[in-house]
Amino acid sequence: MESNALVKIEHLYKQYNENSKVLEDISLEVHKGEVVAIIGPSGAGKSTLLRCLNYLVVPTSGKITIDNVTVDAEKHKRKEVIALRQHSAMVFQSYNLFKNKTVLQNVTEPLVLVHKWKKEDAEKKAMELLDRVGMTAFRDVHPSSLSGGQQQRVAIVRALAVNPTVLLLDEPTSALDPELVNEVLQTIKAFAQEGVTMILVTHEISFARDVASRVLFMDGGGIAADGDPHEILVNPTDPRLRQFLNLIEN
Ligand code: ADP
Repeated sequence: MESNALVKIEHLYKQYNENSKVLEDISLEVHKGEVVAIIGPSGAGKSTLLRCLNYLVVPTSGKITIDNVTVDAEKHKRKEVIALRQHSAMVFQSYNLFKNKTVLQNVTEPLVLVHKWKKEDAEKKAMELLDRVGMTAFRDVHPSSLSGGQQQRVAIVRALAVNPTVLLLDEPTSALDPELVNEVLQTIKAFAQEGVTMILVTHEISFARDVASRVLFMDGGGIAADGDPHEILVNPTDPRLRQFLNLIEN
């Protein structure tokens, strides 16, 4: 099949145990510069789908391709999984910064240790990105003295520093106090507008509408709607999506 997709998911299935079908036959392509927001009720399989993309969760069957690396779940090899992981970076709900490292070390260490950059190049890249998110003054500080919003901005920088093919964000604002949500959304928006390819699981429907180029609505382990945010969210035709949006608004 001719395709210039950066991310390709083919017939993906996931069962955590015999009776649970968490993902059922998901196929999807994501192209360069797309910002894909995945929405849907709790338990729909959103987080599992995102985690399958970097094999934090191993799919039961199906293929994942990012860039030129394809991994087939039923015969995956460790080397392939490591190669696949080099093409994406994940931002978690709970930031997951290294607590005993400074802000600067949090960003540079993956570059130096995993991606074998020279320390000075890693620091230059880190400082450029920290500057973009207004965090250079905190370079020598440990995460515990930062707000949740500041920690998440550092986590976004750490993920982007490796120049991932695709940035994966798993509910990046869900753990934040309400007054800190906006600064993180603005950071994500700025990088989205620069063309960073993203797949984002979110409950922020207005953010999905305004920033995403495409919205996927997941329900019961499948993709129930997929399309332009305004079409999907403003005049939803799928009854389950209508119900979901009504519940969120009320
Ligand atoms: P969502 O992100 O849409 O809330 P998840 O992907 O987190 O959904 O979960 C989908 C389903 O898979 C849920 O029923 C959840 O209980 C189940 N699940 C998630 N992780 C595990 C796990 N590690 N072991 C068993 N079941 C799991």
